[in-house]
Amino acid sequence: MAPSVRDLVDKYRLGFVDDPLPGHEQYQGMLAIPYLRWAPRIGWSVATMRFRCLLANCDHGGHRGGKYASMPEHPPRIYNTLALLDDTDDIGVTEGEFDAITASVSGIPTIGIPGADAWRKHFREPLLGYRHVYVFTDGDRAGNAFGELLIKELPNALIVPMPTGEDVSSLVLKHGKHALLERTRT
Ligand SMILES: [Zn+2]
Repeated sequence: MAPSVRDLVDKYRLGFVDDPLPGHEQYQGMLAIPYLRWAPRIGWSVATMRFRCLLANCDHGGHRGGKYASMPEHPPRIYNTLALLDDTDDIGVTEGEFDAITASVSGIPTIGIPGADAWRKHFREPLLGYRHVYVFTDGDRAGNAFGELLIKELPNALIVPMPTGEDVSSLVLKHGKHALLERTRT
């Protein structure tokens, strides 16, 4: 059975910024996406947060000009590192947090990179031990560039392109998770 939205909110601890603390007004009305970490003895912690605007017809001018906002001074980090703790031969990589959630829920543990230009050299290391790293690229120019970059970085990368104009979430929403899983079996 597919997990409910409630289950996903619980698992990934997604939140909504209703009443921001002083100094965080720019995140008002945005979805809050915590970068959860788990470690023995320490337990759960949050490495950083990203925020996504939920307003329809928003020009995003009121919150630093983007649909997504990061914490000031925070470098890009890997989203959903819990996928790295699963004992699997293969792993997925997406651009963006939601596509990582969608692919993980569809059955392929998947980490997210916060944007096609957010790749960092040290993200390579934890991916080298896998048989395949499925790189789910958006069906646009930035997606193609992201795929080309990861092919150079990772000897075990397999590009899994989404159809033109689609990303993992829109594909699964329209055609179901099997549409995504089939693309990894070529
Ligand atoms: Zn906005």
